[in-house]
Amino acid sequence: MRLSKYFLPTLKDDPKEAEIISHRFMLRAGMIRQESAGIYSWLPLGLRVLRKIENIVREEQNRTGAVELLMPTIQSADIWRKSGRYDDYGKEMLRITDRHDREMLYGPTNEEMITDIFKAGTQSYKDLPINLYHIQWKFRDEVRPRFGIMRGREFLMKDAYSFDLNQEDAQHSYNKMFVAYLRTYARMGLKAIPMRADTGPIGGENSHEFLILADTGESEVFFDKDLYDMDWTNFEIDYDNKGDVADVVKDFTAKYAATEEMHNEDDFKSSVEEGKRLSGRGIEVGHIFLFGTKYSEPLGAVVQDPDGKQVAVHSGSYGVGVSRLLGGIIESSHDENGIIWPKEVAPFDIGLLNLKTGDEATDAACQEMYKGLQDSGFDVLYDDKDDRAGAKFSRMDLIGLPWQVIIGPRGVKNGQAEIKNRKTGEREDVAFDKVAAYIAEKNAS
Ligand code: ATP
Ligand code: MG
Repeated sequence: MRLSKYFLPTLKDDPKEAEIISHRFMLRAGMIRQESAGIYSWLPLGLRVLRKIENIVREEQNRTGAVELLMPTIQSADIWRKSGRYDDYGKEMLRITDRHDREMLYGPTNEEMITDIFKAGTQSYKDLPINLYHIQWKFRDEVRPRFGIMRGREFLMKDAYSFDLNQEDAQHSYNKMFVAYLRTYARMGLKAIPMRADTGPIGGENSHEFLILADTGESEVFFDKDLYDMDWTNFEIDYDNKGDVADVVKDFTAKYAATEEMHNEDDFKSSVEEGKRLSGRGIEVGHIFLFGTKYSEPLGAVVQDPDGKQVAVHSGSYGVGVSRLLGGIIESSHDENGIIWPKEVAPFDIGLLNLKTGDEATDAACQEMYKGLQDSGFDVLYDDKDDRAGAKFSRMDLIGLPWQVIIGPRGVKNGQAEIKNRKTGEREDVAFDKVAAYIAEKNAS
């Protein structure tokens, strides 16, 4: 992408309304624009990252055998009356009336609708287990939308729903999601600590929240240092092996970790030795629930069991805050100059900087580099704009692409580009024809 033809409305100064770093950088980097309180447009750069995060989430859901579908954002109030949640949900639910005076709502979550979909399509235990998910916009009329897309009113969520014949199978479905979440966040460079959670208005028996550490997090968290120091990246797993999946869950829940609502100081002290009792603040990026027959009973989602009896299915629901993750990643990966995207979610792989646009030899070298890098499979943002070098450097640092390839008249004379690693700040001069291989090799190591 040529920057001169792109839409990247960056800001030089900090916007006053932004209280936290991720919000500030997202606005300054031209990723989002507020349309009303807690409601944002996703500008091209922000949308690229959102899509990458969404794809990682999708790939890891698919790997477990979950099946993607897409439900509407607008729902009818009827099914919510059947489950009894229409009145419980309160003011967070945005209620709408259509031209025929039918009561509708903008979905804050989808337990009712998915249970109805499942019910219409499944008759026998032989069709189980099934896990259906979608990645769709939600609306919750939060009292205090804040921190940009971190606590929005409209936000993108991945929500999955599992259906099983009995409690034991449902626990395996829950465990699979637990492991999938660890893998999902790890691929984005995050350690999201699973913490036993209160089940809140969705209700249920077993529940964990996944929190990443950040000073600006809304919850206070308490955990064992040994848990944080575990290997969070090595989850090659056979999801059909119940024992193996349960073992990973056991490993990650054996050590103390709790949010303030669930924290018990005495337990903390008795189960974790002195120097290893850590506390801090966390951002909730995922939440999983096992709630048994809470929705299947009132909504009549039954199947025929092996004895020919009609039984209500056991369910769970599993949410990932897809849009919130952008903020979470920025909170945990930035410096004073801007964002530092982990390469897996970066909007482009490489920023190519032409330090002297209009100079024939520099333009030609950059053009060739641009083409060459793209031919090698990289997604490149080519800064071909007529700005001074200083402005280009700060803009590139701000938007946080993992690699910068810098070419000016001096480099053209020597046949070399300067390559900067955004994360480490390391710079190296590399011959033009070796640039693609250099970056590919560093990315692989
Ligand atoms: P919170 O406690 O932060 O209000 P929640 O417990 O109400 O969240 P869930 O129903 O568990 O949220 O939703 C699943 C995930 O969706 C959350 O873990 C979070 O990452 C994300 N999420 C929830 N509310 C918002 C919001 N207002 N803006 C952005 N993401 C959100
Ligand atoms: Mg929650």
